[in-house]
Amino acid sequence: MDTVCSLCGTRAEGSTLLWATERDERGRESRLCPDCAREHVRDIEARLSTEWW
Ligand SMILES: [Zn+2]
Repeated sequence: MDTVCSLCGTRAEGSTLLWATERDERGRESRLCPDCAREHVRDIEARLSTEWW
């Protein structure tokens, strides 16, 4: 089965070890390529820090 990034549509070539698995509020899984996963983490951290302050 192909692994496709849910954000940019990149198709995994070979290993998906670096790919992130996200679960949305409905419990659906989506995959993020390493690049998007990095961006996504940054988004979450930014959101957390704004909520925190
Ligand atoms: Zn991506």
